[in-house]
Amino acid sequence: MKAVSVFPETKTLKIVEHAAPRITQPDQVMLRILDVGICGTDREICSFEYGTAPEGYDYLVIGHEALVQIEEVGSAVESLQPGDLIVPTVRRPCLHPGCRACRSEHQDFCYTGDFTERGIKQAHGFMTEFVVDHERYMRLVPPNLKDVAVLVEPLTIAEKAMAQVFWLMQHRPPWIDPETPGSERGYGLNALVLGVGPVGLLGAMVLVSAGFKTYVYSRELPPNPRIDLVSSIGATYVSTQTASVGQLRDQIGNIDLVYEAVGHSHFALEVLGVLGINGMFVLTGVPGLQAFIESDPARLMREMVLKNQMLFGTVNAGPEAFAAAIRDVDIFMQRWPDAVQSLIAGRYPPEQAFELILRRPTGIKSVISFGEARP
Ligand code: BGC
Repeated sequence: MKAVSVFPETKTLKIVEHAAPRITQPDQVMLRILDVGICGTDREICSFEYGTAPEGYDYLVIGHEALVQIEEVGSAVESLQPGDLIVPTVRRPCLHPGCRACRSEHQDFCYTGDFTERGIKQAHGFMTEFVVDHERYMRLVPPNLKDVAVLVEPLTIAEKAMAQVFWLMQHRPPWIDPETPGSERGYGLNALVLGVGPVGLLGAMVLVSAGFKTYVYSRELPPNPRIDLVSSIGATYVSTQTASVGQLRDQIGNIDLVYEAVGHSHFALEVLGVLGINGMFVLTGVPGLQAFIESDPARLMREMVLKNQMLFGTVNAGPEAFAAAIRDVDIFMQRWPDAVQSLIAGRYPPEQAFELILRRPTGIKSVISFGEARP
C-alpha cells in the first residue's frame, strides 16, 4: 500500500510501501481514503520544521484533512456501516488519568502535551490507501457533501474559535441578550480576517453567516480569484498594499473582532494595535521561526487594559466543532455553492503530493485523491 511519507531524521520525502492495516479491536473501523487536503502544516512537516514519526517507525505518513469511506467495521461498531462517508478527527487523547481535557473527549485542550495527531505527531496520517481507526473518532457526513467534505477539518478551526467568541459575546459586554440567534450574533459588529488561505476564507464565511460586517485583509491585489471569492460572500477585501494597518481603523471603525489566519507574528502584533474597544483577537496561525522585532509591550498592555480587550489562541478541534463544521459546509453550499467549490483548486494523484505541498500554492486548497467513493 503506497503512503506519502516524511523521514524527519534523514530529512527525506518518499512514497513508501506501507503495510496494509487490519482490524484488531471490536470498536475499530477500516477506512478507505478518498480525499486528503494539503495545508500549511503539511508544508512545515515536509520542510522538516514540524512532525514526529510514530514509535517504532523512522517515517511519518502525512495527511490530516481527510474524507474517507467506511470499508469494514469491527464487531462492536454500532453507529457506522460500510459505505458511510466520514471525516476523521485529527487529535487522539493522552493517556494520563489526570488530564481532564482528554478524559472528557476534548483532547484539543490537552494539558499534558502527550496527545498524538494523525499525520502530524507520533501517529500516521491519511495520505495512504487504507487506515484503521476507532469508531469514536469518526464524524459522519451526508452523501450530498461528498465533493466538499474535505473542507470540514480546516473549517473546524473557525468553528472552535467562533464557539468561544460567541460564548464570550453572550456574557460580555453585559447588555447582550444571551438568547440572540446565531445568525444575528455579529449584528452591528465589525470583524477583520487576516489572510486569504483556506482557514481565513472559511473563517470569513462563518463570520458573514453570523451577521458580522466582515473585512478580509491580505497582501494580494486584484485581479485575484481569492479576492473575488471574498466579494462573492458579501465580505469586503482590503489589500495591505493599498491600506496600511493604521488606515484600517478609519476605514472600518471599531474593530470588534480579529480572526488571524496567517501565522505571521509581526503582522498579528501590528494589527493587535488597532483592535477596537471591547475587541477580541483570535490567533489561529502557527508561525515558524521568525525574526525578532522591537515592540512596545507597555503600550500594548495599557491599550488592552483600558479597552477591555481579549487575545486568545485556539487549536482545533473538539466534537462540537466538527458537528458545527459539517452543518455549516452544508449551509455554505446552499448559500454560496460556487465560492465553496472554488476553494478546492483541484484533485491530484499521490505522486504529485510533495510537489504540491512544497511549491507556492496556486489554487486555494489542493487535494490528493486516492479514489472515488463507492456507491
Ligand atoms: C491541524 C490541527 C493540529 C494543528 C497543530 C493543524 O494543521 O488542522 O488538527 O492540531 O495543525 O499540529
